[in-house]
Amino acid sequence: MESDDCSVKVAVHIRPLIGDERLQGCKDCVTVVSGKPQVQIGSHSFTFDHVYGSTGTPSTEMYQECAAPLVDGLFQGYNATVLAYGQTGSGKTYTMGTGCGDTSQTGIVPQVMNALFTKIETLKDQIEFQIHVSFIEIHKEEVQDLLDPSTINKSDTTSNGKVAHVPGKPPIQIRESSNGVITLAGSTEVSVSTLKEMAACLDQGSVSRATGSTNMNNQSSRSHAIFTITVEQMRKINTDSPENGTCNGSLKEEYLCAKLHLVDLAGSERAKRTGSDGMRFKEGVHINKGLLALGNVISALGDEKKRKDGAHVPYRDSKLTRLLQALFDSLGGNSRTVMIACISPADINAEETLNTLKYANRAR
Ligand code: ADP
Ligand code: MG
Repeated sequence: MESDDCSVKVAVHIRPLIGDERLQGCKDCVTVVSGKPQVQIGSHSFTFDHVYGSTGTPSTEMYQECAAPLVDGLFQGYNATVLAYGQTGSGKTYTMGTGCGDTSQTGIVPQVMNALFTKIETLKDQIEFQIHVSFIEIHKEEVQDLLDPSTINKSDTTSNGKVAHVPGKPPIQIRESSNGVITLAGSTEVSVSTLKEMAACLDQGSVSRATGSTNMNNQSSRSHAIFTITVEQMRKINTDSPENGTCNGSLKEEYLCAKLHLVDLAGSERAKRTGSDGMRFKEGVHINKGLLALGNVISALGDEKKRKDGAHVPYRDSKLTRLLQALFDSLGGNSRTVMIACISPADINAEETLNTLKYANRAR
């Protein structure tokens, strides 16, 4: 990576009208300007790094453009984050490919996992790899471990087939020492050595992810889910150099570690839109706080001039941004961020779609 060491890229993914919307007689209100990464809705027009339209875009194209460079970067020691943003039902989980029992290979995460292990296979003779995954969610500003074995074992399937999230141990703690080093206490790191093992972790976590019903979509998730892949490499480098005439079989070890965070964010719709109150409203407030803080962080990172001037990046404003920045060293630093804004083309969602496009536009 060269000049874009700390880049932020923003893509828009427009899903097709779905059954429900067709039944309600919804019209498509989003247009993609032909040949340009530009989206129009009403009198508004936005340009992004990439736009994936509702028809005929092969899922491999989005993977190749948005995620493949990040997977390559992992092998060079660069951290990266892919975030799926959008209102509930806009296609975040579909885009990431992290739905429960989702066996399709079209989402970002399954393709990342495939590419990762394909590449490891070609390198494993020269490099020793250690791969770990963790899967956590942030729900109401609390961090939960989705791979906690005790939680998983206690998970209970209710009569409507939904898996209830039974709290196992206390929520994960974010601890800060006096010198400012922040650690995450108690999240499970699972060591995996095959694609199958990694996919099993993804499935397990997706199942234990807390879900709650809202008027908009009863499968909707009110939490941010962060699936993290850690790649550690130990490379033996032969330091013999014929030029210097040294030839004593000396080997130097090079160690590299990088993390890729794949984030399925909570629905971005405003709390009042979900027609809910009490608990749900509180969740809405917390969720929006995280998304607001994330928008501010990404906007500050994406602004090259501000970054060079050492402007304040407001990581501390929410658990979500604090986690991504401090624990994983993932936003900023030597990392790349890709945000995929997911939108519905339906006219009934026009207001939220416009909000999403504005948010994404600000992140650029
Ligand atoms: P979210 O995670 O943002 O709430 P989902 O990913 O669950 O949204 O998508 C909502 C519905 O739309 C699901 O039924 C999903 O299968 C469908 N869907 C989403 N994106 C697409 C797409 N690109 N093509 C076809 N169907 C899609
Ligand atoms: Mg979802």
